Amino acid sequence: MGAGAQIYHIYNYAATNSFSPVVGDCLTVGAAGGYLQGGGYSMLTPVYGLAADNALEFEVVTADGRIRVANEAQNSDLFWALRGGGAGSWGIVTSATIRVHPPVAIGVSELSVVPSASQNVTTLGIEFISFLAKYQDGWMNKGIATSFVLFQGEYLLSFYWLDSTANLSELYPFFEELKDRSSSYTVTSNTTLTFPTISAAILQHLGPSIDKTTPYGASYQQNSRLVPKSSIDPSNPSSITAVSEAIWKGLQIVNQPLGSGGGLFGNVPVIVVGSFPAATSHLVNTTGANPGLYTAAWHVFYTASWTLGIDATTNAKVMTAIHNAVSPLTALDIKSSYQNEGDPFEADWQEAFFGYKYAELSSIKLKYDPQNCELILGLL
Ligand SMILES: Cc1cc2nc3c(=O)[nH]c(=O)nc-3n(C[C@H](O)[C@H](O)[C@H](O)COP(=O)(O)OP(=O)(O)OC[C@H]3O[C@@H](n4cnc5c(N)ncnc54)[C@H](O)[C@@H]3O)c2cc1C
Repeated sequence: MGAGAQIYHIYNYAATNSFSPVVGDCLTVGAAGGYLQGGGYSMLTPVYGLAADNALEFEVVTADGRIRVANEAQNSDLFWALRGGGAGSWGIVTSATIRVHPPVAIGVSELSVVPSASQNVTTLGIEFISFLAKYQDGWMNKGIATSFVLFQGEYLLSFYWLDSTANLSELYPFFEELKDRSSSYTVTSNTTLTFPTISAAILQHLGPSIDKTTPYGASYQQNSRLVPKSSIDPSNPSSITAVSEAIWKGLQIVNQPLGSGGGLFGNVPVIVVGSFPAATSHLVNTTGANPGLYTAAWHVFYTASWTLGIDATTNAKVMTAIHNAVSPLTALDIKSSYQNEGDPFEADWQEAFFGYKYAELSSIKLKYDPQNCELILGLL
């Protein structure tokens, strides 16, 4: 993949050449850029791992001006770091070679669920997150990736699976339990789709739907926490409740300044992604990617966007709200964060974005860029 290739280029090429790449969902993200170098999750990740797990080689111009090839055999430390250890830190990547997988049909199930207006919205929201938590690890172990967009008054649930590893019936126990809860939650739409390839699923469906809801060009701030599987283990219901309460509290924090309108895109959801390495979690130390990505059940992220015209006070309020939205999860000692969708003002960013790999990544940085030229170029 050339450095300039955007994800839709890769899916188009994959469609023509009959393979499945692990390159994410957003059509215009740079496949060999921030996405791959920050770790990179995709709906294929529960089965095939992170994008970083699938990298085979990089060509990179390091700070000394040399063009280097980094793979398992040459510059293997740099190769390790480039696989998820943080974009823009190691040099300018001019191309990346990735492992691809056989063509596979993709199943998609999408539901909209509305909590009962006659009951307490907070209680129902927390209970619903706990309900999802109970199934999450089982879904990922069966190769099902999930994405939940939770507004206070509506929950949009998406499930994705490779037809070769799972099928819709894996979701039946969840659907049955949802039916049993019909006095509290109403399913307002329920769609199942099948696409012949991952390229078709992304190019025809998921990519355009992300494009419709992403306010490109607006100011944008995000914050993330990687919730480990151990925190939502069904054998520990009190931990599930605590996590669910913390996620909901974050949603309330982020909506406080956003309810006011005035250039803000109000009523923001929390997004809960469950697309992490299940079959390949043992690869954790073979890449420089955040170890939290390998133990995560959920990437919980808060995102707010706003137009340029808002006054400085409101701007500061939104930034603070997004910054603080993860505090309830942090208070539960859930501190790991996905750097590609994280907060640039993260206080303990070394721990949050890199975990125990930070020391090793730092020493590789010093070896290839002793004067921290990447930082200097960034500042310029
Ligand atoms: C709508 C949307 C959907 C997304 N969906 C997903 C998803 O499904 N899965 C996922 O994992 N992430 C997803 N992301 C997050 C995405 O991975 C990050 O935003 C990522 O940083 C984008 O990389 P980029 O190169 O396109 O962006 P840029 O802003 O261009 O770059 C990001 C960083 O990478 C550096 N960089 C870029 N190119 C190079 C290069 N060639 N060499 C060295 N450094 C480079 C830049 O200097 C910068 O520091 C999504 C983002 C958006 C906006």
